[in-house]
Amino acid sequence: LLEMTGVRKAFGSHVVLRAVDLEIEPGQCVVLIGASGSGKSTLLRCVNLLETVDDGVITFEGRDITDPRMDADAVRSRMGLVFQSYNLFPHLSVLGNVTLALRKVHGVAAGEAEERGLAMLARVGLESKAAARPDDLSGGQQQRVAIARALVTGPGLMLLDEVTSALDPELVGEVLDLLGELKDDGVTMLLNTHEMGFARDVADTVCFLHDGVIHESGTPAQVLDDPSQERTRAFLSRLR
Ligand code: ATP
Ligand code: MG
Repeated sequence: LLEMTGVRKAFGSHVVLRAVDLEIEPGQCVVLIGASGSGKSTLLRCVNLLETVDDGVITFEGRDITDPRMDADAVRSRMGLVFQSYNLFPHLSVLGNVTLALRKVHGVAAGEAEERGLAMLARVGLESKAAARPDDLSGGQQQRVAIARALVTGPGLMLLDEVTSALDPELVGEVLDLLGELKDDGVTMLLNTHEMGFARDVADTVCFLHDGVIHESGTPAQVLDDPSQERTRAFLSRLR
């Protein structure tokens, strides 16, 4: 579904991604781990074409999306992106937030958009909040709305950048539980998190980003419990 080969990204002389190789099959959950500043967010932004890569190729759904002739908006409309800060529109209702892209980007008629939006809100357990304003929801609920908004258009890939790190500790669980359910539903996800418990339970593959490359990758048991690389061991030991 997604394949990154030799992806390089520098900001001026600062090379963040040197040569990233990464592959995701449909239905997989791939968790990126790595130190602060190692380039996890940059990698997700490259996949979403928010950054242009300097070198290498990213293919998504069978197409080379790094080809400059590619329509970036069309590519983005096939991906769901969720950030640490939920960025909901405060002046729109919860349902309005969830249906906005359906109506404005995907050209879905209002009635159908509402139906799909309500079904997606039910999916994340927030149907009863459809008419509420985002500010009246807890942080965990707002993040679930942001996830519903990203999912409602039926993206081929969800990109989630530290979606729980702005939440109060007691709200983290409800969002991670939702991601685990989505994985069970077959949603393909590439995400960054510091939640190693989640990575262990849900990830198919854990990738340790270090020094601009995927330094080590494998199953959670391999990478988190029995890493083969010294750098991976050092990173994990600092978390404990
Ligand atoms: P964190 O865990 O703290 O979120 P990260 O792994 O997501 O870190 P990135 O945000 O991808 O790291 O940043 C990687 C490096 O690239 C950092 O040194 C950062 O300062 C730099 N960087 C990111 N975006 C830009 C930009 N637009 N211009 C210049 N430098 C940038
Ligand atoms: Mg980041």
